[in-house]
Amino acid sequence: MKKENIPEIIRRMPKVELHLHLEGAFTFEFLFGLIKKYDEQEVKSIDELKQKFILKDFQHFIEMWFWKNKFFRTAEDFEESTYQTIKNLSLQNVIYSEAFFSPWDFKLSGLTVEAITEATISGIRRAESEYPIKCGLIVDIVRDHGSDTAMNRLNQITPYLNKGIIGLGLGGNERDFPASDFKEVFREARKRGFRLTAHAGEAAGPESVWSAIIDLQAERIGHGVRAVEDPHLVDYLIKKEIPLEICVTSNIKTKVFPSIQNHPFNTFFKKDVKVTINSDDPPMFGSDITNELELICSEYNYSDNELEKLTSTAVDVSFLSNNEKKKYSNLIKSFWEERNISL
Ligand SMILES: [Zn+2]
Repeated sequence: MKKENIPEIIRRMPKVELHLHLEGAFTFEFLFGLIKKYDEQEVKSIDELKQKFILKDFQHFIEMWFWKNKFFRTAEDFEESTYQTIKNLSLQNVIYSEAFFSPWDFKLSGLTVEAITEATISGIRRAESEYPIKCGLIVDIVRDHGSDTAMNRLNQITPYLNKGIIGLGLGGNERDFPASDFKEVFREARKRGFRLTAHAGEAAGPESVWSAIIDLQAERIGHGVRAVEDPHLVDYLIKKEIPLEICVTSNIKTKVFPSIQNHPFNTFFKKDVKVTINSDDPPMFGSDITNELELICSEYNYSDNELEKLTSTAVDVSFLSNNEKKKYSNLIKSFWEERNISL
């Protein structure tokens, strides 16, 4: 979707994004700057870089993930990348975001996890001081590395809780590494005050979502889209008001669903499952939050009221305090009220 085709209202509306991986949300301009800074010759222009990121399959996604990580070498690189990413969100009128972050992915940089974490938090703070946006970090624990590593990582990151970090998330291979392995880690994190979310129901089916809910007591489910295969689970999500962080383009690019016509977003939305719309790894999937909203609005023909509902749901199910939720809900409400008056 070309930016010119996006209706003005979708560009202007205040947005909230709850499922975004910082490591997959760099701007192409920033990454190209890094490549030049280190005098690497692998790409000659931003266009060439963008071409390189047109993903062929999941394997290609993984290759590109590690390829771009090797250009992040100093604390300043992390600080500036985070700053540019959050600034870019604000320029799309994102007013609040919760972003996953995984400082263990950058062993090659030689930096400590603490140095990367502090640089990332400082990039967020700088963006927050210059733009009308707020961002909380959710530490992403990878299933594939096992529960002992997960517990060590939780310990390592705990000093930053409520100093930039607000929650714990679970990512990685959900087919081979069940959520139940991480029961203790999540129990401990909850005890310490971390808010909890877990990727589930993306590569694996409803049983994976059940496990994230029952074993981990996850407050939100990342993706969760394959819950649609189990009507009992869908009823449970509605009854318990368990939100799904849905990323439509990501699901299509990673072939969870062949096309938007097969995607269950609208089914969930119409049944009143608490769904939110997100971009996951925007440059890697050739999208962003503005595009995602445009995609579902044009596909399902959503009204202004429905657009407003989507955003206010995202505030409701965020990990903000009640006072902050009220503040953001009011901002959203007044935007749509003013729009109604001007129509
Ligand atoms: Zn994700």
